[in-house]
Amino acid sequence: MVQQGSLVVISGFSGVGKGTVIRKLMELSDSYALSVSATTRPPRQEEQNGREYFFMNEQQFNEMIRKHELIEFACYCDNYYGTPRKFVEEQMTLGKDVILEIETQGAELIRRQYPDALLIFIMPPSGEELRRRLSARGSEKEQVIRQRLERAAKEAEHIEDYSYVFVNDDADECAGRLNALIQAQRSRMDRNTEMIGRVRTQLVDFLKGE
Ligand code: 5GP
Repeated sequence: MVQQGSLVVISGFSGVGKGTVIRKLMELSDSYALSVSATTRPPRQEEQNGREYFFMNEQQFNEMIRKHELIEFACYCDNYYGTPRKFVEEQMTLGKDVILEIETQGAELIRRQYPDALLIFIMPPSGEELRRRLSARGSEKEQVIRQRLERAAKEAEHIEDYSYVFVNDDADECAGRLNALIQAQRSRMDRNTEMIGRVRTQLVDFLKGE
C-alpha cells in the first residue's frame, strides 16, 4: 500500500526567496509535487500560464470558488490566489508530498481542513535584507515594494500559526533542511499504522506457529 503523502504549506514574505528554495527542494526528492495556484494577478514577464500560475480573470476565479474547485483562496495585494483541489488530492493519494506556496490566510484555512498539514514559514535573516532583496528583484515599482513590506509586517503577526520557521540565508542549505524535515514526517508513527499492524500480526502468527 502506498503511504499517503503529506500536505506541506510553505509561506514567507514576498521577496524572501521562497521560490528559489522550493525549486531546489523539488530537486532533492521525487516524492514532491508542487501545486500550481490559480490567480487573478497579471503574469510577470517571465511567467507562463500553467507553470507559475493558472492566470485567469475574476469571473473564472469566482467560477472555481462556486464549484468548490479550490481548497483555499485569499486576496493578497488586490489579487485573488487559490489552490486547485483536484491536483492536491490526486497527488497525495499517489503518495506525493504536495507543496503549497501560499500566504498566511490560506495557510490558516489549510490548517483547519487538514490538521496534519506541515506549516513552514521562511524568514529573511533580517528586515533590512528583505527590503534589499525586494528592491533587487527589479520587476516591482517602489510603491509595490512598499505595499509588499507593509504586507510582510502584517504577515509577521501570523508566524505563531506555523510549526516550523526556517531562515533563508543560503537557499541550498535552507532547501536541505526543509527536505530533511519533510522526509522525517514519513516516519511518524501515525503515518505507519498499516505497517505496524502488519508486523504485529506477523509476530503473533510466527509465535503461534512455533
Ligand atoms: P506573487 O504575486 O508574488 O506570486 O504571490 C503573492 C503571494 O500569494 C505570495 O505570498 C504567495 O505565496 C501567495 N500565493 C500564491 N498562490 C497562492 C494560493 O493558491 N493561495 C494563497 N492563499 N496564497 C497564494
